[in-house]
Amino acid sequence: MTKLYYFLKPAIPWPIRIRVRRLSANRLRRQCSDSWPIFPSAARLPEGWPGWPNGKRFAFVVTHDVEGARGLARCRKLADLDKALGIRSAFNFVPEGEYRVSDTFRADLSREGFEVGVHDLHHDGSLYRSAQHFSKQTPRINLYLKMWEASGFRSGYMFHNLDWPHGLNILYDSSTFDTDPFEPQPDGVGTIFPFWVQRNDSKGYVELPYTLPQDSTLFVLFKERTIDLWTQKLDWVASHGGMALAIVHPDYISFDGRPNSSEYPADLYERLLKHVITRYGDTCWYALPREVAAFAAEIKPGLVRGAPTSDCRFDDERQA
Ligand SMILES: [Zn+2]
Repeated sequence: MTKLYYFLKPAIPWPIRIRVRRLSANRLRRQCSDSWPIFPSAARLPEGWPGWPNGKRFAFVVTHDVEGARGLARCRKLADLDKALGIRSAFNFVPEGEYRVSDTFRADLSREGFEVGVHDLHHDGSLYRSAQHFSKQTPRINLYLKMWEASGFRSGYMFHNLDWPHGLNILYDSSTFDTDPFEPQPDGVGTIFPFWVQRNDSKGYVELPYTLPQDSTLFVLFKERTIDLWTQKLDWVASHGGMALAIVHPDYISFDGRPNSSEYPADLYERLLKHVITRYGDTCWYALPREVAAFAAEIKPGLVRGAPTSDCRFDDERQA
């Protein structure tokens, strides 16, 4: 079904897709109310978890996936918004998608303290088609990781299979989530902590699940008008000493005060940052994903998966 869907997707107009998706997503949201946005058992500590560096209470990590040309055009404004509040985030660019990111802009971001990551290869939903296809694309992804001096990877549409990225020259992957029944591959990893994925030999990589609902889910799919779900989840993650990892897409942020139906005002995102800063101050570790990954690669925490809830059933018929 997934393959057929990504084949047909370009032929279905967006307003129809999003309406169909909203109907099933709302049904799913009711079914999954006890496991999304908060999946209580995802708070279990990994064995031997030493706590965050410097006694910080929790980690806050911001990532920006740049989906298309519209998003690329807004990256400068988004980086400035982050900077104005003292936040440094990771910008994940698609190497061979509908835009090309310039060397100059990547260099600017790095110089300003931001991180640059690789987001999929083509971002057309095909990467995780098969293990064979994935390994065929691996050298090309490695080429961009090297050229961009990037250490992190995230797949398009959050497709994942933790056995496959071992051929990638990465410190971390971030294509999973603690709980997100609204993704095309909805199986979450059930933890709000980073964990180590071991390969047969001594090597491996760190997996950084995202743990705050995606902006697109809250503001485009569910048309939320407040950041209540973000702050509710963030406060819960903070209270359990976990990692609050956000995905915020410049493609869906309106900076001009006139958001269309696939956008939300930049003010909502700004309010999330201000919430963290004012409520938690320096008790929070404001970290780049590669910093959290470097920390986790030292201690190699195992994956302690929360127990799945029985009444949140995923089906395969609801992608938009
Ligand atoms: Zn994406």
